[in-house]
Amino acid sequence: MNNRTISHIINPQLVIEGAGVLLRRSVSPRASNEYDPFLLFDHFAFNNPQEGPIRGFPMHPHRGIETVTYMLDGSVNHRDSLGNAGVIGAGDVQWMTSGRGIMHEEMPRRGESGNIYGFQLWVNLPAAQKMDQPRYQEVNSSSIPIIKKGGATIRLVAGELDGVNGPVTEIAAAPLYMEVKLAPASKFIYPIPSGHTTLAYVFEGAAEFGGQIVESVSMVVFNDDGGQIEVTSNAAGEGVQFMLISGAPFKEPIVPYGPFVMNTAEEIQQAIQDLRNGTFVK
Ligand code: MN
Repeated sequence: MNNRTISHIINPQLVIEGAGVLLRRSVSPRASNEYDPFLLFDHFAFNNPQEGPIRGFPMHPHRGIETVTYMLDGSVNHRDSLGNAGVIGAGDVQWMTSGRGIMHEEMPRRGESGNIYGFQLWVNLPAAQKMDQPRYQEVNSSSIPIIKKGGATIRLVAGELDGVNGPVTEIAAAPLYMEVKLAPASKFIYPIPSGHTTLAYVFEGAAEFGGQIVESVSMVVFNDDGGQIEVTSNAAGEGVQFMLISGAPFKEPIVPYGPFVMNTAEEIQQAIQDLRNGTFVK
């Protein structure tokens, strides 16, 4: 089977979002929809006391998308218009399908180490599901399967590996989402269906992806030119740690507007009007 090669590498940019939260952003929603079905990828990394207090993301709406929060360190306090409230702790995942609308608050907090480290991925919904009722898949760290294979340790959130399925299911984009930690002098190979958009967010160490050396922190975008991805870590290095993200594109036009991603400008106008009229959340 041929290995997918790299199309390009995105250098994450520092941005300030919400009420003054510093992020590394590698993908943001655009009408060009280059990474269909993925819309956004943010990396929370508050590991410097000079960054000051963490202000978080006060109550805000979403429509037409899924937001996926994956925490490695620290936590996110969460509450929403459905009456849910809780803490996304280290190792936990929250896969939120906004459908027609939720209002929620996300407040990152430092862990015992003093750090916050985690990711938020936005996944698009197809037109036929954008106005469905909202739903959540809350996954506790202990229910995420850990698979050891060669020098790789994999935490599988969504998708399948060697007959094991990740706990997040019934997602329109048929996503694969996993954290891979690869020891030095090891190889990781994973089959990817033809046509599926595939990204790797390399956040620690370095390795060869499809024959090209990639150093952290970088978002790798693969070409659709092979049946698998291959990652090889150098014997001399410290290994590599990355999020592997893959899914089936919807190939529909999108109109992004802040926390909304719809298919037409009229649907964006409707979302704004629903917010004004108090009919956004039903
Ligand atoms: Mn949000």
